[in-house]
Amino acid sequence: MRLTFCGAAGAVTGSCYLVETVTTRFLVDCGLFQGDRETEALNGSFPFDPGQVEHVILTHAHIDHSGRLPQLHRLGFNGPIWATPATADLAGIMLPDSAHLQEMEAAWQNRKRQRAGDEPVEPLYTLDDASRCLQLLRPVAYDEIVAVAPGVRLRFRDAGHILGSAIAEIWVEEDGRETKLVFSGDLGSPGRPILRDPTRVSQADLLFLESTYGDRSHGEHGDQIEALAAIVRSVAAEGGNLIIPAFAVGRTQDLLYYLNQMQQAGRVPELPVYVDSPLATSATEIFRRHQECFDQEARSLLAAGDDPFSFPGLTYVRSPQDSMALNQMSGAIIISASGMANAGRVLHHLKHNLWRPESTVLFVGYQAEGTLGRALLGGARNVHVLGEAISVRARIQQLSGFSAHADQGGLLAWARGLERPPAATFVVHGEQTAAQTLADLLKESGHRPHIPALGESLEIVRDAAGTLVVRELAPRSPAPLESAPPSRHANGLEREANGALAALRRFRQVLVTGQYNGQHNGISYSEVWKELRRALKDLGLVMARTERRSRRGEDN
Ligand SMILES: [Zn+2]
Repeated sequence: MRLTFCGAAGAVTGSCYLVETVTTRFLVDCGLFQGDRETEALNGSFPFDPGQVEHVILTHAHIDHSGRLPQLHRLGFNGPIWATPATADLAGIMLPDSAHLQEMEAAWQNRKRQRAGDEPVEPLYTLDDASRCLQLLRPVAYDEIVAVAPGVRLRFRDAGHILGSAIAEIWVEEDGRETKLVFSGDLGSPGRPILRDPTRVSQADLLFLESTYGDRSHGEHGDQIEALAAIVRSVAAEGGNLIIPAFAVGRTQDLLYYLNQMQQAGRVPELPVYVDSPLATSATEIFRRHQECFDQEARSLLAAGDDPFSFPGLTYVRSPQDSMALNQMSGAIIISASGMANAGRVLHHLKHNLWRPESTVLFVGYQAEGTLGRALLGGARNVHVLGEAISVRARIQQLSGFSAHADQGGLLAWARGLERPPAATFVVHGEQTAAQTLADLLKESGHRPHIPALGESLEIVRDAAGTLVVRELAPRSPAPLESAPPSRHANGLEREANGALAALRRFRQVLVTGQYNGQHNGISYSEVWKELRRALKDLGLVMARTERRSRRGEDN
């Protein structure tokens, strides 16, 4: 079996793991890279051929885990996408929303490019790609074991992170032996509202463990709720607004749950609360539909007729006009996406409140490197929001205890729930320090941790005694030469160029493997040369024909 870490390696976004077995080739997650330009440029291509991927196992609907599925489909993937029913429903609103953002981004860039006389760019994917991709979703209930491909069985367990989030247990059979892979997905913290606690898994041969907060503790949960109440009280006293950038799915619903409880208990003044995110509003509807995912406490509340997602003073804002009307407000709590303040309606609220000393901006989730959220938490005094320079005078606060991610203690406790340490523990989905800190602690618990690099490939084999051994392989080429499939309307010349590019791509694949490993996987240098000769010959033919054509054009 071969594993390739195509995302969330040494970073928190772009989750994507390629598993190649003797019988099939599949992905676990296919998420968008988010952050600075350099990070987002990674979305341009896949380090594998999407048409060769047979199925995808999706742990949850967050865009950094699901956001490239429409692109994968656009580039040739056509297999089933396995997900829990709640994840499938959430993907049904999140992928079209993401497609809309991609289209808007491309349209904005093209307006600039047109003025500069440059060729237009295509969006990463369109609404149409997202709609067609959603047809591929195959819901699988928690705790049910399903055969997803020859020799591969899957079971989703509750990860307690967001609605529908799952740990994926995957059994792979090769040469009569079974190897169990466990992907933690994003793990929630025990004792959080609404959702059940993460399920303990007792056995794993290969563990893929997230490490977002591998170097941090969230502190006592009760203290965090009191801290939130104190912030609400001080905002009420000062007369500004409380702006909370929050993930539309998960964090927003948690915050509503707490605000409802605090208002009912009379712990905070009853400020008007606005959820200004059409996506969060739709997501809240989906939460209501999936009460099978709720914990006992949330079910009892609902049974008693108390809907945590609706209370006096709470307004869901849908239209852009109503959203803009909030700019004139004072003394309100505005919960808006995106959670890392890198896009979405929250940017308008930041533009109108960051300069006001009486307002407060509260971050409740992880802020990835390169985002506006990270800059504000880092103490930036001057920022650019929606193209405008803003002097930061509002109070910037952070409560990490509301994170949908387990902290260091939670991650370690979950990993120690295994009856014995796995043959290897891959520490993923964490920035370098977080991953390294967690890896060091796991080592003390008898784990064999490894922090994979982006693009790293590993081969998993069994030695003579049947013990699993991890071998390093050459990384996959970081970017295929061609990122779009040949157009249906391609003329003869374009088709030939595409053929030549495909040959070059094969050649590069062979070269990368050959260069590092010589004879590895039976690929010899003579085959490398053969590929190169073929690619060069194809390219030469195309170039000669193109030149002839352009000469004829000049003659006319
Ligand atoms: Zn997540």
